[in-house]
Amino acid sequence: MLRSVSYSRLLAFETCPYSAKLKHIDRIPEEKSEHAERGTHIHQLAEDFVAGRLSTLPPELAKFNAEYNALRSQYMNGRVSLEGEWGFDQDWSPTDYRSAWLRVKLDARLRLSLTHSVVVDYKTGKRFGNEVKHGEQIILYGLAECLREPKIKNVTVELWYLDVDDLVSTTLARETILRYLPNMEKRLQTVTSATEFPPQPSLFACKWCPYGPAKGGQCEHGVLQGDTVISLYRRKYG
Ligand code: SF4
Repeated sequence: MLRSVSYSRLLAFETCPYSAKLKHIDRIPEEKSEHAERGTHIHQLAEDFVAGRLSTLPPELAKFNAEYNALRSQYMNGRVSLEGEWGFDQDWSPTDYRSAWLRVKLDARLRLSLTHSVVVDYKTGKRFGNEVKHGEQIILYGLAECLREPKIKNVTVELWYLDVDDLVSTTLARETILRYLPNMEKRLQTVTSATEFPPQPSLFACKWCPYGPAKGGQCEHGVLQGDTVISLYRRKYG
């Protein structure tokens, strides 16, 4: 069983439970993709710049010059925290991140006032095609902030699309955010109560899966573009 859940784990489980098992229960290492490594590098640059460890803004962040300089100056004023690791238990009480039921990671958080905060998530890659996924992340960040901070009345979640110079900003009132709690909880509970992890092959899921035939190949159920309907049928029913 999976003891803990995060948004990426939820997504993996809902796309194909077997892939979540291979990754988080069997712990089969996945090859690092160039895209993931670049993302990690850029996040580190951003953290170093905002925290004052770099004197100039790296070119990778240049499209967000004004935003990064503003965040840095707020950090110097003590109003920004970086690389937050927020953990919650199953009653949604804040707890230690490592032993938490739900883990939420964020890039930056700015306290605008006692009742209003801003959560910032840096994005590398494209925005279009990821709207649903990123919309759900906004909700989860908003929920996490409200449940950690009882006095918060409004949360602004900003997604900074560093490569495409696009900033999505969503401000949600506490009452609105909390309406999403029951549904989110139900989905997260499904992940941590699952005892079976059936493969759910699809051309799209298997194409991007680290264990699929186009990548690591550890999954015997994966399908490739070009597989016929008959071979899919055989894989499923023998
Ligand atoms: S290759 Fe396809 S079926 Fe196998 S784990 Fe990945 S997504 Fe699931």
